[in-house]
Amino acid sequence: MNAVLGLDVGGTTTKALVVATDGTVLHEERRPTAHATDPLPGLAAELDRLTALAADRGAAVVGAGVVTPGLIEESTGTVRYASNLGWRDLPLRAGLQERVAVPVTTGHDVRAAGLAEQLLGAATGVADVLLLTIGTGIASALVSGGRALTGGTGAAGEVGHAPVRPGGELCPCGQRGCLEVYASGAGVARRYGARTGTAFSAAEVVGRLGSDAVAREVWADATSALADALVTATLLLDPSVVVLGGGLTAAGADLLDPVRAGLAAGLTWRPPPPVHLTGLGPLAGCLGAAALAMTHAGLGDHLAGWARGRRPVPTGTG
Ligand SMILES: [Zn+2]
Repeated sequence: MNAVLGLDVGGTTTKALVVATDGTVLHEERRPTAHATDPLPGLAAELDRLTALAADRGAAVVGAGVVTPGLIEESTGTVRYASNLGWRDLPLRAGLQERVAVPVTTGHDVRAAGLAEQLLGAATGVADVLLLTIGTGIASALVSGGRALTGGTGAAGEVGHAPVRPGGELCPCGQRGCLEVYASGAGVARRYGARTGTAFSAAEVVGRLGSDAVAREVWADATSALADALVTATLLLDPSVVVLGGGLTAAGADLLDPVRAGLAAGLTWRPPPPVHLTGLGPLAGCLGAAALAMTHAGLGDHLAGWARGRRPVPTGTG
């Protein structure tokens, strides 16, 4: 049996999958991201460990996909800048390939999640998709005509820094009124904390919607900023479906209902695209990384089988 590795290196959590080439998930795990001055030896050791683990399960690893946030030069696999990881000009693909025996490919975490949504998730078979991941930060994957848009510098989809409230509150990026200021997990927690002096996470703020007027106000700001961003994105890209992913989707209807309503209200002359929450859970980026490894290994044809069987959908509990 052959298998691929998918590794999703996030600012706080690193997720890993070992997926057989027929789509069966052999192993999944999540662990805190190790922040090292030079992350390459640690990541290489991680890939070696997962390769050995696959061998224990009777599978030979034929490729690894590693995805990260930030600005990634797709042609070279160099991470130009990833603020949450503290990486600048890191030769991720070349540096890992020097250190491990299995073929390595790299990509952008949210674009990989978009690929997974197209293969297996809420956008299966759809050629024009906007995936918005709302976690600590906000980023999007733009799939147009079946092709993931990367942009001139690899920075397509950085909608988290679209100024949805011109002249609004200051963003850590230096601009004012960015979407992330109002609607990211960090933004919701910070804005609630600034009003109440209480350090609650975004999830805790959502949990207080029934009993806390400040929580309702901060959350209403978040969902209306998201809806406004989606209005602009819809007019720009005309997606057939909008998929919301990332940690804040745990809010469920508290997120989906106001965003749907705000998007519909913001579009007067055309119908809004349908908006869905991801069905793939927090491992969508990791699944996309594994899919990138499949394509890199010349096994892209097998991905249709993954979709048919719906087998690689992880439990999300690993
Ligand atoms: Zn910003």
